[in-house]
Amino acid sequence: MTPAKKKTTAKRLAKKPAKKAAKKKATAKRATKKTPKRNTATNNGGPRRKVPSPYLPEILETLAKTYPDAHCELDYTSPFELLIATILSAQCTDVRVNIVTKTLFAKYRGPADYLEVPVEELEEDIRTTGFFRSKTKNIRSACQTILDKHDGEVPETMEELNALGGVGRKTANVVLGNAFGKPAGVVVDTHVRRICNKLALTNQEDPVKIERELNKLVPEEHWTMFPHWVIWHGRRVCKARTPQCDDCTLYAYCPTRA
Ligand code: SF4
Repeated sequence: MTPAKKKTTAKRLAKKPAKKAAKKKATAKRATKKTPKRNTATNNGGPRRKVPSPYLPEILETLAKTYPDAHCELDYTSPFELLIATILSAQCTDVRVNIVTKTLFAKYRGPADYLEVPVEELEEDIRTTGFFRSKTKNIRSACQTILDKHDGEVPETMEELNALGGVGRKTANVVLGNAFGKPAGVVVDTHVRRICNKLALTNQEDPVKIERELNKLVPEEHWTMFPHWVIWHGRRVCKARTPQCDDCTLYAYCPTRA
């Protein structure tokens, strides 16, 4: 072998491990690369799923036109009653809550009343809304804080509401938006989570993350009404098990239409 040939062979041999390592690296990179979430729902010839949907203005306009009378479906006559009704509405229908609060609000007029009766009595009074033990605990804790720190009045800030027992962002947003007209964000309940995913306004599942995204997308002036529109849509048309896509005013903007 001539010295020149020897040199080329040595070079080739030296390159081999480097090539092998690069190949290995590329394979590993491919393997760790996140596979994008597949949209398994059929879009039935509808718009491609792009998050956030470019149709937000159309969706807002259509919802506003479709549900001009949308409102909170819980019955209440004061911020305090709305707070109690919203606590009771966890894992319960508004219809059931309204049945319970009809007699509850006649018996318990203010925060002190919920603390004066024995725990078992309050539990019994709200039993049919489900999770009555934890709801009783939350109601009593909220009432105690309202009396101790807020002179018996429901506070008007997210921070203070969150500090009441068992009051999360959803309940606080319901009270702030509907009772005080000062929404701190979009209410995210099960309908809002489900339908906003369907409409590609978000691809999050966690309510806090969804709220954060919607607060950026939805203009502040619609923060209170947007969830009502979506909830009404979820109850009347885009039902979880049987969405009525053929009768849906959002059909043209929905990438998961059936
Ligand atoms: S009813 Fe159908 S078309 Fe309308 S939002 Fe729901 S999935 Fe989309």
